[in-house]
Amino acid sequence: MKTSIMLWVSKGARPVSAQQYHLGGEVTFTHRLYRLYHFGLRLAAALLPIRTPHVYAGQQALSQWLCEVKKQNLRTLLVVSDPGIVALNLQQPIIAALHQQGINTVLYSDVEANPGIPCIEQGVSSFQQHHCQGIIAIGGGSVMDCGKLIAARIARPSKSLQQMQGLFKVLRPLVPLYAVPTTAGTGSEVTVAAVVSDHQRQIKFAINDLCLVPKGVLLLPELTLGLSPQLSATTAIDALTHAIESYIGINATRFSKAKSVTATKLILTHLPLVYQQPNHIDARMHMLWAAFYAGQAFTRTSVGYVHAIAHQLGALYGISHGLANALLLAPVLNAYGQRIDAQLTALAQQTLAANSDAQDMRAAIATLLHDCAIPSTIAQLRQEDIATIAKRAIAEAHPDYPVPCFFNQHDIETILYSLLPQQQHSKQTNEQQSLTGQYR
Ligand SMILES: [Zn+2]
Repeated sequence: MKTSIMLWVSKGARPVSAQQYHLGGEVTFTHRLYRLYHFGLRLAAALLPIRTPHVYAGQQALSQWLCEVKKQNLRTLLVVSDPGIVALNLQQPIIAALHQQGINTVLYSDVEANPGIPCIEQGVSSFQQHHCQGIIAIGGGSVMDCGKLIAARIARPSKSLQQMQGLFKVLRPLVPLYAVPTTAGTGSEVTVAAVVSDHQRQIKFAINDLCLVPKGVLLLPELTLGLSPQLSATTAIDALTHAIESYIGINATRFSKAKSVTATKLILTHLPLVYQQPNHIDARMHMLWAAFYAGQAFTRTSVGYVHAIAHQLGALYGISHGLANALLLAPVLNAYGQRIDAQLTALAQQTLAANSDAQDMRAAIATLLHDCAIPSTIAQLRQEDIATIAKRAIAEAHPDYPVPCFFNQHDIETILYSLLPQQQHSKQTNEQQSLTGQYR
C-alpha cells in the first residue's frame, strides 16, 4: 500500500483518508521468528505474578501510609528526590509527617534527569551510611527509577548495575520501597523496569525484575499542581502512548486492555481540563490514576514504535520523553493505517461512544494534541540524522516490542521525513506531508 501514500494531491487539497495509506506490513522470515519471541513474552507476562503496589489515595492517603510505615517498624527512611522537587519543597510535608511519627529521614536529592550509575551509587552510599531501612522516592520517572535501583543494589550488594541489566537479575526482595509520582506520565510507580544511563558507554539500559514494583504508591494530586500546562500535557500524552501502544500491540490481554481503556478515557476527559485549569485538583487526581493504569498495562505488554523512535529523539536532541512521544503518536498511528483499525475501533467504542470507530479515535487524539499545542514538526530534527534515528529505532523495537505490524528502515524514515521542519522538506515532500496532514 505504499503507493497510496502518493495520493496526496496538489496544494490546498486535503489528504486522503487514513484508511487509504499505511506503511509496513512486509512479513519476512525474521519477522516470523520475532512473532515466536513475542509469543514467549506473552506467555511469560501471563504466568509471572506481577504485583500491584498498594495505593494510598484520597484525603487519608498520607495518614494511612504512615500507619503502614509504623507497622513495619521502619525507623529511618531514605527520601530520594531531585533538586527541582526540593526547590519547590514538595517533599517537606511528607518528611514533616514522618518526623511527627518519630521516623527519621535522610534526604538524597541529587538525582539527575536520566540518572547515571554514579548518581545511583551515591544514593546507595547514603542509604548504607545512615542505616536506612526503607526508601521513599518523590519525583518523576527518573527519581522513581533511581529509588528502585538503589533498592536493587542494596538487595544485591555484590552485583553491579551493569550485571543486573536485562531480565530477572535482581531476584531478591527489596527493602520497603514507596513511590510518590510528582508527574502523571511514566508509570514507573507500578512497572517492573528501571532505566540507567551509562555515560561511559553512552547508552541507556534497563533492569527488569518483578521485585522492582514498589511496595506502595502515594497518589497525592496536590504535588502535581505546580506542573506547567505543557509539562502536564506531554507527561500525560506519554501515559496515553503507553495505554495505546499496549492496546494495539499483539500481546494485549484482557487485563491490559481494561487498564488501557480506563487510562485512555481518563486522559481524553481530564487532560484538557488540567491544561486549561492547572489547579483543578480532581482532574489532577484522575491524571495520576491514568498514568498508574497505563503503567499497569504496558509493564505487561511493552510499548511500540512510538517509544522506539521517541527514545532516539531523546538521546540525540535531548527532547523530553513525553514531548517526543507526543510528536510521534499521531504519525505512527497514521502509518499503521487500517491494520490497527479493529483495535482503535474497540478502544473508541469503550472510551468515546458505543457507535464510534477508528477514525473517531484518531480524531480524538488529534484534537487532544492540537488542544495541548503539540507542534506538528520536530524543530531539532535534521534530515541527515533520519537514517541513523530509524536504524536505532528498529534496533530497539526488534524483536522486543510486540508491535501490531513491522516497519522497516524506509517506513520509519518516511515517518520522520513527515516531521521535518518545513524548510527541510527536500525529499519525498508530498509523500511525507500526507502522513501527518490529516491529524494536526
Ligand atoms: Zn513512555
